[in-house]
Amino acid sequence: MTKYIFVAGGVMSGVGKGITTASIGRILKSKGFKVQIMKIDPYVNVDAGTMNPIEHGEVFVTDDGTECDQDLGNYERFLEQDLSTDNYLTTGRVYQAVIQRERNLEYQGKCVEVVPHIPEEVINRIKLLEKKTKADIVLVEIGGTVGEYQNLLFLEAARMMKLKNPKGLVFVLVSYLPTPQNLGEMKTKPTQYAVRSLNMAGIQPDIIVARGSSALDAPRKRKLSIFCSVDEKDIISAPDVKSIYEVPLNYEQDDLGNRILKKLGLKAKVNTLGDWEKLVFNINNPKKEVTIGIVGKYFKTGGFTLMDSYISVLEAIKHSAFFFQAKPNIIWFDSESYEANPANLKELKEVDGVIVPGGFGSRGVEGKILAIEYCRKNKIPYFGLCLGMQLAVVEFARNVCGIKNANSTEFSSTCQGVIDLMPEQRQLMKDSHFGATMRLGAYQCQLKPSTLAKKAYGAEVISERHRHRYELNNDFRSQLEAKGLVVAGTNPERNLVEIVELKVGEHPFFLGTQFHPEFKSRPLNPHPLFKEFIKACLK
Ligand code: GLN
Repeated sequence: MTKYIFVAGGVMSGVGKGITTASIGRILKSKGFKVQIMKIDPYVNVDAGTMNPIEHGEVFVTDDGTECDQDLGNYERFLEQDLSTDNYLTTGRVYQAVIQRERNLEYQGKCVEVVPHIPEEVINRIKLLEKKTKADIVLVEIGGTVGEYQNLLFLEAARMMKLKNPKGLVFVLVSYLPTPQNLGEMKTKPTQYAVRSLNMAGIQPDIIVARGSSALDAPRKRKLSIFCSVDEKDIISAPDVKSIYEVPLNYEQDDLGNRILKKLGLKAKVNTLGDWEKLVFNINNPKKEVTIGIVGKYFKTGGFTLMDSYISVLEAIKHSAFFFQAKPNIIWFDSESYEANPANLKELKEVDGVIVPGGFGSRGVEGKILAIEYCRKNKIPYFGLCLGMQLAVVEFARNVCGIKNANSTEFSSTCQGVIDLMPEQRQLMKDSHFGATMRLGAYQCQLKPSTLAKKAYGAEVISERHRHRYELNNDFRSQLEAKGLVVAGTNPERNLVEIVELKVGEHPFFLGTQFHPEFKSRPLNPHPLFKEFIKACLK
């Protein structure tokens, strides 16, 4: 019998539900169980592909091309498992399926109602994941915060499942305990209210993960236990940590894994967190430092700076830095500032390497091109991801090949389109078919011998994940190659350019990929291209 763990959040968003869920998953996997995790996003959007990265963070992409919440990235990194569309659910997906079923007369003339039909569909989806993967334990993270209207039907689904299977389902509430500066004391009341809200939805938490800037002390643990009816041992202290990768080890100090297993009537079969401990040791004992500049635009929201839009890039940099026992420092550079004042470009000299990550729309593009030119000419290691590769090609076309009007047709309709739409994409755009229609998910790439890419991967054919509409225009390929741009990887089926680089020996590291290597980097298995890049940066 498959067991279930539902994880919900209290008090506010951003308290680390995703990392908690991923960490519990990792712990249970290390105890010998087959684990799956599903994320439920309360948005009406069918997938994350149509959401603004500044509002919702990075759009993560799985092998099967699902554009999903960034938490799936956390799950993949912690579980070291590839996930699929079955691991992701949104309100939009649920309603879309129910409405389609109604149109197909599959409800046999019955009134279709929000309750029970919507929660039933949610349950069906959870069971489908279980059936397809034959998981021992399925974790379900419910997005949003308890008490809000948007995720009520998901809590309702969880409640219905618990009713049918009281011994096989555990509820974890990840809540936040603020320590207001003027008081200097950690407060439990908001969490008490969160538990009340959950109670109103018919759910009593089995475990409370108490997030806060510091550890939960004994008096507050006692208070929470009494007011929330949760055993003190099931209230887990979860203070801020330097690295998210410490979280599973922290939870294990409170024996969280075994507490959960016991409630589910299970027993640990093995214990293999050893490799994870080694990782955390490397993180905490760096021997050197490496500083990477990210030239982007998706990090300003009002007066605050957010890093969520580039989370996988960030983690991929860290994984490789940890591998070399280096402390990663990351600096954010706003590409628009280079457009306003190109003299600002010299700040790029302060870093060991530069990344231009993925992006959409023309804002900040010219500044990124200036940054790439600066890296190429000043021999600063450069790694371009998707848009970062496309712009490296534009820069090369303009400044090396002398095609002054070169650009991507995404940004100019009158340019020489060295980066251009494929015909099928042009039709999709014309028909306003934007959702889930990019070139998405895993495609193969054949590597050219004696290139930086080939050396990094050590393989002939690789597979990487994509999310883009535009491509290097093959009409310009021979012109670019004649001037020294190396096409180091192509898609064998369609002859599309996947990797470009400068000739080996000409530059310490200058490489761009049409795909997103960051999605496949794992803490215990850093991505080969990031590894090669960080190696060059450390030099
Ligand atoms: N905007 C570009 C495209 O659609 C790049 C996309 C990206 O960087 N993910 O092709």
